[in-house]
Amino acid sequence: MTSPAPAGTGPTEADWAAAVAAVRGLPATARVLLICHVNPDGDALGSMLGFGLGLRRLGVRQLQATFPGPPEVPESFRWLPGIELLVPQDEAYPDPDLVICFDAASESRLGDLVDRLAGSGAALVLDHHASNTRFGGIHLVDPHAAATSVVAEELLRRLGVALDAEIATGLYVALSTDTGSFRFEATTPAVHAMAGRLLATGIRPGEISRRIYDTRPFGAVRLFGEVLLRARLEPAAAAGHGLVWTYATRDDLARHDQPAYVLEALIDSVRCTAEADVACVVKQVSDREWAVSLRSKGAVDVSAVAVALGGGGHRFAAGFTGRGTVDEVVASIRAELSGALLAG
Ligand code: AMP
Ligand code: MN
Ligand code: MN
Repeated sequence: MTSPAPAGTGPTEADWAAAVAAVRGLPATARVLLICHVNPDGDALGSMLGFGLGLRRLGVRQLQATFPGPPEVPESFRWLPGIELLVPQDEAYPDPDLVICFDAASESRLGDLVDRLAGSGAALVLDHHASNTRFGGIHLVDPHAAATSVVAEELLRRLGVALDAEIATGLYVALSTDTGSFRFEATTPAVHAMAGRLLATGIRPGEISRRIYDTRPFGAVRLFGEVLLRARLEPAAAAGHGLVWTYATRDDLARHDQPAYVLEALIDSVRCTAEADVACVVKQVSDREWAVSLRSKGAVDVSAVAVALGGGGHRFAAGFTGRGTVDEVVASIRAELSGALLAG
C-alpha cells in the first residue's frame, strides 16, 4: 500500500517505483488481469489494450483484459490492436497475481469485477479522475492528466517499453477521445507532445479518427435525427446559463435496430447548442433506470451535479445513473443546477 498523495497532485516517485516493482517483480508464470470501467470508452479500452500490448513486449504471457457487463465492444473500437486480449468477465482469472485497473474512479464503476481486486495478489490503479477513491493497493492517479493513457504511457516508459505502432494506437485513441479530439481545455502542450510521440510510430490519425468518430450505421443516423428533434432548451436553467437536454429509450433503439452504445456519440450533437452551457442526454438502461451524460462549456461544474446524484466524472464531463421517469430524472438535474455550483 503506497501512502495517499494529497488530493489534486499526481503520483509520487514512491508510487511510480512501487508500480514498476509490481510489474518487474512478476514471476514468468504470473497471471495478469487488466480491467476498466463499465461501458468502456476510448480511454478505458485504448489505455488498457495499449498498456496490455506493452506488457506483452515485456514477456508477460498469461494476460487477459476485461470489463464489467455484457462483453460487447462498440463497433468503432473493435479494430483496436490488442482486442484479442479481451475475454468476457466470467472467463477472467478469478485470482490473478496482479490486477491493473484503467480509467475507473471508484469500485462502483467495476461491477462484478470488484471481487477480482480483492482476490488478486496486487492491485494497481491507473486513473485521472480527481474523485478517484483509491480502492487499490498502488495508485497512479493524476487528476491533471488529460486521459488515463497519459499515465499508462509514463509507466511504460519507466518500465523501459518502447512505443510501437500497435501500443501507440490504443494510447492515441484514448488521448484523442478524452480530449474531444484535441478540442477541450485539457489539450495542453504536454498532450500535443504526447500525440507527437505516438504519431512518430507511424500511426495514421486520419484513418483512426474516421473509424472512431466519423463512422456509424445509417440506422444510427436516423435515430439521432429523431432523438435530436425532441431536444428541449431551457435558457433559464442553471442560474441562467441554460440547459439543453434530450432522451433516448430502449424502444427508440429497437425501432432503428441499434445497440445502446451508438448513443454515446449523441451528447456531442446536443452540447453544440449555443444557448446552453449545460447539455444532457438521458439514455434508458432498463424500465426505470437511465444512464445520464452531462457536459458543460465551462460555467457549471457538472461533476458536482453528478456526484450529488450518485455519479461522478470531471468538471465539464460527468454522468450518473438516474431512476424513475425521464421527467423525474431531468427534474433532479434541474434542481441540482438551480443551486448550481459555478465552476471557478
Ligand atoms: P459519459 O457521459 O458516459 O461519457 O461520462 C462522462 C464522465 O462521467 C466520465 O469521465 C465517467 O467516468 C463519468 N461517469 C459517467 N457515468 C458515471 C456513473 N454512473 N458514475 C460515476 N461516474 C460516471
Ligand atoms: Mn472513461
Ligand atoms: Mn478517461
